[in-house]
Amino acid sequence: MVGRVAVRVRPLTEQEKQTNGGQKIEITPNQPQISVGSNRLFTFDYVYPPSANQEQVYTTCVIPLLSSFVKGYNATILAYGQTGSGKTYSMGIGIDSTNNELHRGIVPRFVYSLFERVESMRSVYHSCQIFVSFLELHNEDLVDLLSPVKREGLNLCIREDSHGQISWTGVREEVVTTPKELLRQVENPSTDMNNVSSRSHAIFSVILKQTIVSKDSQSMDETGVKKLVSKFHFVDLAGSERLKRTNAIGDRAKEGISINAGLSALGNVISALGDVSRRASHIPYRDSKLTRLLQDSLGGSSQTLMLACASPSELNTAETLNTLKYANRAR
Ligand code: ADP
Ligand code: MG
Repeated sequence: MVGRVAVRVRPLTEQEKQTNGGQKIEITPNQPQISVGSNRLFTFDYVYPPSANQEQVYTTCVIPLLSSFVKGYNATILAYGQTGSGKTYSMGIGIDSTNNELHRGIVPRFVYSLFERVESMRSVYHSCQIFVSFLELHNEDLVDLLSPVKREGLNLCIREDSHGQISWTGVREEVVTTPKELLRQVENPSTDMNNVSSRSHAIFSVILKQTIVSKDSQSMDETGVKKLVSKFHFVDLAGSERLKRTNAIGDRAKEGISINAGLSALGNVISALGDVSRRASHIPYRDSKLTRLLQDSLGGSSQTLMLACASPSELNTAETLNTLKYANRAR
């Protein structure tokens, strides 16, 4: 697995500018290093300051994944961070970007680049088909955001074949032939990302099926035909903030209840994958539906990018530090 970790600090909002006191976050110029409110310095593969725009983020950390995706490898981008830290903005899911190129996020940029690449690869010897699916995972319940009727109680089955490939049966996969058609699925008003709770994960997936016929092949039988299927998952994770206990008293009121179960399972899987001494041993994919769904797109030959999003506001220092610690485990 090639796993990379990026941290993106969003700009202060107008409201935060009024209330924000001292500067708590420091980013080392020209180095992917960041510290927050303390002397501890974290190093990641990429650190984006508030001035970084959507295009810079896309070009530096997403294009390498696109390149391996069209070669047939799975890829996953996980947007992590507390609610309001810029996950959905960065991903560009559920936001109509047609009139707003500057703010266009990762998914729409990816879609336009993907179609360009596919057009340039296509020939009589090489056919490509693109499918999309869009799921919401709330606790352990799945909702198919592309299904117009069945909004709840999705009867999804996660199957694993003998090659370790995961397939989701019962999920709507729409074939798409143009970037606009694909983006309609992500920006579809009926999917209504505003209704997707900050406590749930949104998983938008693009599946590329390629059939490549060897030009040297004389016969029309199966020899000389290569089929490649690759999946690219864009995951807008649930808010990572620890919920405050509202009915607790005293010191206990300050304690958070546990982090979302999917997020902690994901953290464990990623850190197990990154731990060289444990590589051959057990990876706890089965601990949550999230990790089970993404099983064949996190380890092995897949490319993974964790995009940890953070607020620069002083009020969020504690959550930002938690985000950096979580992202640091993924390295
Ligand atoms: P999350 O999905 O993590 O809850 P959002 O993506 O909805 O957070 O971001 C919260 C707010 O901050 C939104 O109004 C969004 O447009 C804005 N925002 C986030 N990141 C940026 C950025 N890099 N530049 C400008 N505005 C941003
Ligand atoms: Mg969001």
